[in-house]
Amino acid sequence: MSSPRAFDPHRLDTAAFARAAGQLDGEWPLRRMPRLLQDALPLSGDSPAQTVAWSASGERKAVSGGEAEIRLQLRARTALQLTCQRCLQPMTVVLDVRPSLRFVHGEAQAEALDEDSDEDVLALTPSLDLLPLVEDELILALPLVPRHEACPQPLPMSAGEDELDAADDGEHAFAGLASLLRDGGGKPS
Ligand SMILES: [Zn+2]
Repeated sequence: MSSPRAFDPHRLDTAAFARAAGQLDGEWPLRRMPRLLQDALPLSGDSPAQTVAWSASGERKAVSGGEAEIRLQLRARTALQLTCQRCLQPMTVVLDVRPSLRFVHGEAQAEALDEDSDEDVLALTPSLDLLPLVEDELILALPLVPRHEACPQPLPMSAGEDELDAADDGEHAFAGLASLLRDGGGKPS
């Protein structure tokens, strides 16, 4: 068992964390992730979540004939309110990501490996801040076009009683307009 105090999630020595099979977890306020909130509705008392619950565990994976791989398993969960692109009403989007990150020595190697790998490969640094990393992973999990599975309110174009009511109002409005035009148009100017 490693003491949680031994590692700082904002200045993590990833190699040492992996060697110790370290475990960290906690919660960060969502407002500390402005990039994630960019397209979300502003946080309020009614927001579905105020925090991001996260955990991280370090591990070394033995590789035959080579140096053990340094890995970080992350998990982050939160919920945001986004605007549904169909009905333009707020919708709650739950995010729950479990990325597996691999760390290698040097930016060049990290970039080369990251390109032809399904997993995220990052350069090892002696002091890693997990917060922007978690924020990045949550941003990647955002829906490209947020949409309710079933919109709570009938759409203006959909058939339904509300639409019939609206059509009635529309007819009355047009009837009024038509009589105005008729009355107005009948008089010579
Ligand atoms: Zn909708």
